Amino acid sequence: MTATQLTSENERTVVDAVPKQLLIGGSWRDAEGGRTLDVEDPSTGTPLASVADASPADAMRALDAAVAAQASWAAHPPRERGEILRRAFEQIVARSDELALLMTLEMGKPLSESKAEVTYAAEFFRWFSEEAVRIEGRFAVAPNGAGRMLVTKQPVGPCLLITPWNFPMAMGTRKIGPAVAAGCTMVVKPASQTPLSMLALARILEDSGLPDGVLNLITTSSSGKAMGPLIADRRARKLSFTGSTEVGRKLMEQGSQQLLRLSMELGGNAPFLVFDDADLDAAVEGAVLAKMRNIGEACTAANRFHVAGPVAGEFSERLAEKLGAMKVGRGTEDGVQVGPLIDATQRGKVADLVTDAIGRGAKAVVGGQAREGAGYFYNPTVLADVPGDAKLLKEEIFGPVAPVASFDDEAAAIAAANDTEYGLVAYVFTRDIKRALRVSEALETGMVGLNQGIVSNAAAPFGGIKHSGFGREGGREGINEYLETKYIAINL
Ligand code: ADP
Repeated sequence: MTATQLTSENERTVVDAVPKQLLIGGSWRDAEGGRTLDVEDPSTGTPLASVADASPADAMRALDAAVAAQASWAAHPPRERGEILRRAFEQIVARSDELALLMTLEMGKPLSESKAEVTYAAEFFRWFSEEAVRIEGRFAVAPNGAGRMLVTKQPVGPCLLITPWNFPMAMGTRKIGPAVAAGCTMVVKPASQTPLSMLALARILEDSGLPDGVLNLITTSSSGKAMGPLIADRRARKLSFTGSTEVGRKLMEQGSQQLLRLSMELGGNAPFLVFDDADLDAAVEGAVLAKMRNIGEACTAANRFHVAGPVAGEFSERLAEKLGAMKVGRGTEDGVQVGPLIDATQRGKVADLVTDAIGRGAKAVVGGQAREGAGYFYNPTVLADVPGDAKLLKEEIFGPVAPVASFDDEAAAIAAANDTEYGLVAYVFTRDIKRALRVSEALETGMVGLNQGIVSNAAAPFGGIKHSGFGREGGREGINEYLETKYIAINL
């Protein structure tokens, strides 16, 4: 590791407090050969810390530990599994300031947003602490009256949980929470860009009484090489993945060898529809949230705005005014609302998409370029008159860029919204209740935000259709991903 850019004692303290090793079978260990990987501060591009860089053999040891712990964990009383999550929830809440600072340092988002993610992350543990004791089956008389039927739920077994960098803690808790509640053991692999939040979370679970081997944590710079053999190992029973559609497809292919149970939360290309009867103030507020939360780096981010012709101009102007006034900077600074993008590659992708749209005739109402200097900053951008063939209407932008296109009528709005292979979420702004339901039902997505710019809620089933994946996380549905149904036929 070279020089760091930590600007305060506080920052140094929170980074130092995080374990940097692998957690396998209840003990923290170095990676084979003592290899490490650097974690960067995206606001400066300089290293923040180094963590263990697991080899395939390390990863296999983590699976061995998960397999060894599975039987006793499945037999652990559900109430106690729930209590562990409840204690972890309380610890996360109590330590939310330091966890938020840690998250901002490795991921870049403003402190207030990190704080919101920490709260959201904790909510999954609270929710699933309550679900652990509500795993129910049924008992019935067979139709012929002679036999009885008992239906019961059991944990699927050792799980592989792979998470992305954009929500470093919440994407962990919404997999770990239901896995713990259901009685599954696991190998968790966070993204190499943001492992610190997950390492801190693992320590919290340990302190909350999670038995050794239930959660094993692998940080690695070679995800494919480390996880491939685990996905191919028949002792692993489930893979839950959040990340790109491209990688999800690859993992699904690998998992097909042993018919692995899968949950896939993949890319999005969310349309944001504004009808001419919408409350425009509410639509602009909702648009800022749906676009700018997490610097636009969310699979639920509004990717494209389809606005009714008569209000499209005013909407673009007002959105541009809001986005143009947002303060860009290091997420730790007071008043900053827009942090850096995660790395140079991501910023390059955003810049290419904007250049393409402008080349095809779109107009930049505000922004339109990267910010000079250190870090991976991109200025908030609104593009008006975006033509239908612009690439950013088809591809996930993952940055602070809002393209606005107009539509003529409701049918055209629905057709434009559904003209994508993705199907995670859509946003609809209208004051007409009939239209609200008609459009919501016609949208090919797993979720709809009706007159609101955020849908995420631990109590709701989060997930997509089409190329956005399958399976649901959170809500009453979330725990089912970690349970098998067994039917016992009883002869009387
Ligand atoms: P993003 O575009 O958000 O970085 P990715 O799909 O590349 O999304 O990564 C999401 C997660 O999947 C990360 O933890 C990453 O390390 C992991 N990952 C990427 N490629 C593979 C792979 N071939 N096998 C297993 N995990 C992978």
